[in-house]
Amino acid sequence: MTTNQASGAYKAFFLGPKAENEAWVRSEFQAILEHWFQWRKDLFPGDAPVSVKTERRTPAYLEARERMIAGLEDLTELLEDELPKFTPRYIGHMVSDLTLPALMGHFAMLLHNPNNTSRDASKVGQKVEAEVIAMLAEMMGFDPTRATGHITGGGTVANFEAVWRARFRQDHWLSLALYLAEERGVKLDLFSAAHMGWNRFAELLAEHNVPLDDLRGYSGVATNPYEFGERMTRAFDQPYRGPILLVPENKHFSWTKATNIFGYGEHAFWPVALDARGKMDVTALAGLIQKAKQETRPISMVVSVAGTTETGEIDPVDQVQAVLNAVREREGWDIWHHVDAAYGGFLCSLLRGEPSSVLSDANTAALAAIGQAHSVTIDPHKLGYVPYSCGAIITKDEQAYAVSSFKAPYLERQLEVPDKWSTTLEGSRSAAGAAATWLTGKTMGFDTSGLGGVIAETIVACRAFRERLVAELPFVRPLDPSETNILCYSLAHEGMSLKTSNAATEAVFDRFVACPEFSVSKTTLSGKAHAKVIERHVGAYGGVLDDDRLVLIRCVFMNPFWREQAVAEKLTADIIGHLKDWFLPAKAA
Ligand SMILES: *Cc1c(COP(=O)(O)O)cnc(C)c1O
Repeated sequence: MTTNQASGAYKAFFLGPKAENEAWVRSEFQAILEHWFQWRKDLFPGDAPVSVKTERRTPAYLEARERMIAGLEDLTELLEDELPKFTPRYIGHMVSDLTLPALMGHFAMLLHNPNNTSRDASKVGQKVEAEVIAMLAEMMGFDPTRATGHITGGGTVANFEAVWRARFRQDHWLSLALYLAEERGVKLDLFSAAHMGWNRFAELLAEHNVPLDDLRGYSGVATNPYEFGERMTRAFDQPYRGPILLVPENKHFSWTKATNIFGYGEHAFWPVALDARGKMDVTALAGLIQKAKQETRPISMVVSVAGTTETGEIDPVDQVQAVLNAVREREGWDIWHHVDAAYGGFLCSLLRGEPSSVLSDANTAALAAIGQAHSVTIDPHKLGYVPYSCGAIITKDEQAYAVSSFKAPYLERQLEVPDKWSTTLEGSRSAAGAAATWLTGKTMGFDTSGLGGVIAETIVACRAFRERLVAELPFVRPLDPSETNILCYSLAHEGMSLKTSNAATEAVFDRFVACPEFSVSKTTLSGKAHAKVIERHVGAYGGVLDDDRLVLIRCVFMNPFWREQAVAEKLTADIIGHLKDWFLPAKAA
C-alpha cells in the first residue's frame, strides 16, 4: 500500500455511497456547463442570438419547456428503480461506482459530441483518443510510440477487430501462395506459407517479381471464399478447409460470435483444454498447433485470456507467448497472439509504480507478457471504472493494425494517417469513452499510486471476505484459485453430492435475487471444458461427482469501499447471516 492509498486519497476519486463529495462535485459539473455555455457565447461574436425574451414567453415556447421538464422528471423517477451499482452492496457483475474523472471526462466530451470516425467531425476527440490509446498501451507493456489502436463499443467488438486484422494479414500470405501455385507453378508448403511473416512475404514478392496489386484476385477475402477454397484445393492437391482459431475452452461468447460473423463457421473454433485451475493448458496448445500443421489448417490466431469473465482467472500469457516464440524460432511460423484482457487488462496497473505484491508471481509474469502479443482487448468500462460503452483494441504496431485496404503494411509507414472509418468495424464512434479514460489516467494514473492501488485493495478485500466466509461457514466452498477480485463459491456439506449442492446453491442464489439488500451473480461451469475444475472442486470436500455442472455464486469485488473495515465487517456479517438462514440443502434436494 502506498502512502497515497493509505491516506485515503482514493476517496476523492469516487462520489461516495452517500454522495459524500457532493459539494465540490456539484460545482465541477457546473463548471463544465459554464464552460460549455461560455464557449458558445465567445465564438463568432458577430452572430446574433436567435431568440429574444418575448419569444421565450410565448405559450408555445412555455408549453414545450414544461413538457421537457415534466418528461425529465418522469425519467429521473424511473431511474429510481435502476439497480444501485454504486453501493458496496452491489457485488454482482463487473461494474461498480464510476470514478469522478471518468464521469466528468465523459460528460465534458459528451457536450461537444465529436464523432471519432472522421477528422471532419472530431478534432480534439481524435487527439484524446490517440493519447489514451498510448496510455493504455504503455500500461500493458507495449512501446507506446509504436503501438496503436482505437476505442470500441466494448470487448466484444475489440475481439472482432483483432480477428479482422489477423485474418487480413494471413489472407495476404495465402494469396501469395495461391498466386505462386497458379501462376508460376511454385508450390510452397501451405502451412508454412500461411504463417510466413511479412519479411518472407516481401522476399517472395521480390524473388518472383510479383506485383502486389495482382494478389487481389487470389485473396479469399477480396474474391469469393468458396471459389478460393476450390482453387486452393486444386493448387495444393488436398482439400482446403480454411483457417482456425485456437481459443481457451472457457471461450467467451464473443469468440463464437466471431466465427459466425467472419464466416469461419463454428467448427473453426478449436478449443484449447484448460487445466484443473481453469487456465489454458500450454501443452495442449502446442499439441493443437501440431495438429493444425498435420491437417494443414492455417491458424488465424491464438487467444489467451487475462481475467476470465466467470472467475477472473489469468491464463499463462507468458508461456503461451513462449510456445509461439519457440515455433517461430524452430519453424519460422509467425502465429498471431491476441490477449483478451477485457477484464484483466487494468490489472497491469498493479505492475506500474511502486510494485504491489498482491498478485502471484505467475500472474505478474502473465500480465507482464501482454506487451509481446500482436493485439490486446481491454475494457475501460470494466476495471477502468468508466461509463459504458468503452472498450479498446490495441495492436503492437501499425503493421498489426493494418486492415481492409489491399495494401502492404510492411512497405512503408503511411505518412498521413487515414481517417479511422475505413479501418474500424464500427462507423460513428463517440469520443466520450476516450475522454473518460483519458481523464482517469491523467488524474488517478494507471499505476499503484492511483487506479492500480484501488484495484489492489479490491483484491485484498475479496480475499478477506473469502477468509471470513470460510472461517465462519464450513459449507462455503470457494472455487480455487480466486486470484483477482472475483470470488465464486458453491455451498456443500462435507461429502455431499454435487446435484444436491447445485440445487442448494441455486436456491440460495434465488434468495439473493429476491433480496434487495445485495446483488450477486451466478455462474455455472459445465461440460468437458471444466470437467477437471469441477472434479478438483468437489474432491476438495469429498463430495460425490454425480453432475457435470457446477453452480457457483459469483461476487465481483470492484467497489472500492469494501476496503473500509467498517463497511466490510457490516456487509460480510449480513451476508453470513443470510447464508446461514438460506442454505437448506435438505429442502432444495
Ligand atoms: C467482458 C468480456 C468480453 C466482452 O466485452 P464487452 O465489453 O461486454 O463486449 C470479452 N472477453 C472477456 C474476457 C470479457 O471479460
